[in-house]
Amino acid sequence: MSLDLAGFDRVSLIDSPTPLQRLERLESALAADGDPPAIWIKREDIGHLGGGGNKLRKLEFLIGHALAGGCDTFITGGGRQSNHARQSAAAAARHGLACELVLADVVPRDDEAYLRNGNVLLSGLFGAVVHHLPANADSLGFAHERAAALAAAGRKAYVVGAGGSSPVGNLGYVACADEIVAQERAMGLRFSAILMANGSAGTHAGLAAGLAALGDDPSRARSFSVLASAPDAHRATHRLANETLALLGEGYALPEDAIVVFDGQRGDGYGIPTNAMIDAVRLLARTEGLLLDPVYSGKAFAGLLAKIREHRFTSRDAVLVLMTGGAPGLFAYEPAFRTPAAH
Ligand SMILES: *Cc1c(COP(=O)(O)O)cnc(C)c1O
Repeated sequence: MSLDLAGFDRVSLIDSPTPLQRLERLESALAADGDPPAIWIKREDIGHLGGGGNKLRKLEFLIGHALAGGCDTFITGGGRQSNHARQSAAAAARHGLACELVLADVVPRDDEAYLRNGNVLLSGLFGAVVHHLPANADSLGFAHERAAALAAAGRKAYVVGAGGSSPVGNLGYVACADEIVAQERAMGLRFSAILMANGSAGTHAGLAAGLAALGDDPSRARSFSVLASAPDAHRATHRLANETLALLGEGYALPEDAIVVFDGQRGDGYGIPTNAMIDAVRLLARTEGLLLDPVYSGKAFAGLLAKIREHRFTSRDAVLVLMTGGAPGLFAYEPAFRTPAAH
């Protein structure tokens, strides 16, 4: 079975299917004192527009929806170092839309690297108008006010919340689920788990909805919460998965236990480094030459390493980790990587 998404407006922003790669050097390093699974990654981070990353799949449908609705401006938001904001700015530029970003200072950092480098630098290069708001501001309310102001001037704005995790945006990861299942079939392989970080929950929700719509097991998609508490992230993911299924015209809802969200990697909060994240970023860089990011994929990979140490995944398993991008964030987190490596 494969999914038919042809009824939805869509633009092309990535080269798909994105490749799967096996991390044999990492497996060997972990086998020195453990029994690791076969570890595969899906390269959602490479070769694409604007530095790449998982938001481009969502933006294929969001920008498609905006253009079909006759919009001339794309408004979205996130934290100051939002990868989603950076990819939105690039995608909007690519499709001739003006872009406005509403960035809230949700991470307690005020050093130069955090305020100006990484995603902030790139979003500016892509020509986005940036509005900086304090941590507790109502960013979505502000975005709608901007849209109303633009409407009064004869313009038309498309507004989507942080992370682009609306049911329309989540269709991008419905498409990704279809891709993964086809790749598994072609390789004669089945992953025990498909792992990722959970921020605005749409990546996990879209994958779970896509797996369910394919008649596959939605609980193979599993995420590590990096923003909300695990119960809140679970609730949001479950709701979004069911809203996405409804948009697909599927006549059922997923039970709560179809959504698996792990805790334990968020540390002191969203965007705040943990030692486990720093170790995971260094390990993948040194064993495989690959870049994780400090806010999402570094914490998700740290979660996989913890589960391997706890024997939750063993050499009987093959696991797939989504490389969701975000490497520009490393430049904003330069101070966090000054500490000498422990190994
Ligand atoms: C946004 C993001 C995620 C999480 O995706 P959500 O759909 O927001 O849960 C993971 N990794 C990176 C690098 C991201 O930018």
